[in-house]
Amino acid sequence: TESFLSVRDLRVRFSTEDGTVRAVDGLSFDLARGRTLGVVGESGSGKSVTGLSVLGLHDRRTTEVTGRIVLDGQEVTGAGEKELRRLRGNKAAMVFQDSLTALSPYHTVGEQIAEPYRRHTGASRREARRRAVEMLGRVGIPHPRLRADDYPHQFSGGMRQRAMIAMALVCDPDLLIADEPTTALDVTVQAQILDLLGDLQREFGSAIVLITHDLGVVAETADEVLVMYAGRAVERGSAEQVLRSPRHPYTWGLLSSVPRLDGDVAEDLVPIPGSPPSLLDPPTGCPFHPRCAFTGEVGGTRCADERPEPPHGRGAACHLTADRQRALFVERISDGH
Ligand code: SF4
Ligand code: MG
Repeated sequence: TESFLSVRDLRVRFSTEDGTVRAVDGLSFDLARGRTLGVVGESGSGKSVTGLSVLGLHDRRTTEVTGRIVLDGQEVTGAGEKELRRLRGNKAAMVFQDSLTALSPYHTVGEQIAEPYRRHTGASRREARRRAVEMLGRVGIPHPRLRADDYPHQFSGGMRQRAMIAMALVCDPDLLIADEPTTALDVTVQAQILDLLGDLQREFGSAIVLITHDLGVVAETADEVLVMYAGRAVERGSAEQVLRSPRHPYTWGLLSSVPRLDGDVAEDLVPIPGSPPSLLDPPTGCPFHPRCAFTGEVGGTRCADERPEPPHGRGAACHLTADRQRALFVERISDGH
């Protein structure tokens, strides 16, 4: 499949008072039109920053982005603010977790959906208003003509999230980056929003980068999965591969928090002890080694000394052989650790 979004050796660094944070450290991936990539990891793994830098939305005063990002044949890295604005209007849009912060409290929901449409298409006020009402209807807001005149605080959390999706899709973007779009919502509403994203993707043909800490969300929606840890890709594969036969010990830990995976796998796994490393001073070798229970399987101090190769295609960044990864995972499930 032709790659619509191509990211090569992305590196993102922030300067802070305490030093330089390497938030993303050499990340590459591709995404085809109409496909969904789930980017999974704990907070601080670099996934949100990746989403922001793909759209050039990072803070340029404090953040340095290197590598190559190409969106529909157009360079994002190195593009000026004007080009980026055009790109974001026509080709790409973002949905954030926190709709209360992302939506302005001072404008009606309808105005906030109409505004980007006017800006990017030059449509009249009346036409943009009509389009906003239409979009509200499409994302499942009842009585859209009336509700378009409400302010965000008059909407429930789930409705605000729908409104934000309407705002993101109003210019018919080819790429939607959704950062934890359902995290703040209860489980039922979460499922509805994920269904909605899937429906809209079929209708609009957009590629979606879905950023989440929740492998359960990925199981519902993603075609492909990229698992991130400490700013790096540690595992990748199809959603089916990563969820059914995960190869990286970190992914096993993430899977333990998925309630049920077709009834069998997940419930016997234990969560990973410890917390993600500081990216001011990341661990040497495999960044996961301070938390990994399998360094002894690799032997010596290799896990602490040698950085594993990032996965190209299906695979995991781990010194264990692919066979050993598979065997250990199966052992782990059947022992019920
Ligand atoms: Fe664990 Fe070593 Fe594999 Fe890293 S390389 S995940 S520390 S076994
Ligand atoms: Mg985040």
